[in-house]
Amino acid sequence: MAYTLPLSFPVFDGNEAHYLKQAIGSGQLATNGEFIDRFEKKLCRKMKSHQAVALNSGTSALHLALILLGVGHGDEVICQSFTFCASANPIVYLGGTPVFVDSEADTWNMSPELLEDAVLSRISLGKKPKAIIVVHLFGMPAKMKEIMEISVKYNIPVLEDAAEAVGSMYRGESCGSFGKIGVFSFNGNKIISTGGGGALISNEVSVIEKAKYLSSQAREDLPYYQHLEIGYNYRMNNMAAAVGLAQLEKLHDCISKRRAVNARYRDLFEDLPGIEFQPELEESTPNYWLSAILINGEKTGFSNDRLRIMLFKAGIESRFLWKPLHLQPVFRGAPFYGGQVAEKLFLKGLCLPSSENLSLEGQKKITDIIERELSKIS
Ligand SMILES: *Cc1c(COP(=O)(O)O)cnc(C)c1O
Repeated sequence: MAYTLPLSFPVFDGNEAHYLKQAIGSGQLATNGEFIDRFEKKLCRKMKSHQAVALNSGTSALHLALILLGVGHGDEVICQSFTFCASANPIVYLGGTPVFVDSEADTWNMSPELLEDAVLSRISLGKKPKAIIVVHLFGMPAKMKEIMEISVKYNIPVLEDAAEAVGSMYRGESCGSFGKIGVFSFNGNKIISTGGGGALISNEVSVIEKAKYLSSQAREDLPYYQHLEIGYNYRMNNMAAAVGLAQLEKLHDCISKRRAVNARYRDLFEDLPGIEFQPELEESTPNYWLSAILINGEKTGFSNDRLRIMLFKAGIESRFLWKPLHLQPVFRGAPFYGGQVAEKLFLKGLCLPSSENLSLEGQKKITDIIERELSKIS
């Protein structure tokens, strides 16, 4: 169904068509061509990172990152439970086991206290985790200061899944730039899109070199095809990079507009009882890829699913928050540290339309629907 107000929609109103035409004109559409290099350089400048590798999805970026961190068969990797399955699936691709950690209420991301509990518990079992995957959910930065302290204390590298947090800032620095490796996604409905795409950033040159090598079939620099390792076909293509370069040029603008959408929701919902927003730390500047709310059914008289259906009937798309991975049938039996924080967020939450071109009128329509539902209990 085509929604009148979709959840999240990229807008291609910059140089996208112009660059795409140039890429086609150059005859270089595949994983060669100038836009890949230009896209990587621009991404580095935006993230103040040393180097970046453009890849064909966020999932392949996470897979490569785990390989680069040395994750292999039988290894354990700690992962935030409250996230999309793509954060943890690559652990399983490598024959590893995910160990899930619950969220905290301040950011909805990984709890540093529970992370330390999990690390100590796994070490005491003789299974020191190989890596820690932290996610910045809906673009909201996790408590990176505390998490990096634990990473340093126990010497376990952090992989930042910043798929949803392109351009989000924490203590003046970009999400994705805190861990040993950071990963982004440019899939269809993310804050900026290359159709499908991802990237990996790191300040370690050796990590970047190896990522470039493995993502292009581990081809040796020889006149014939020689391979010493098993590689992957994970590079971004030149057409996607052409669109991506144009999207990066307007990243700042995309973020301002999504932040304005979030601010307007906060204004419009100010007097509505039983509705809360994803909290924001003072040291954070989220990109607000998605605006997410919690519905306290005792005060509103309706659940998140009831609201989802009411919005749906009006042609408005909304979505549940991620179902925690420790509750997913596919990850049954994986160790989990925590309580019911993520589970309760899942049971109460809803993501609202958040596209950069969402109008005030559209947001008022959503407010009216909520007010109408609220009036039924009073
Ligand atoms: C979108 C997303 C991914 C995967 O990125 P793709 O480009 O779709 O492969 C990974 N993690 C999170 C948290 C995401 O939202």
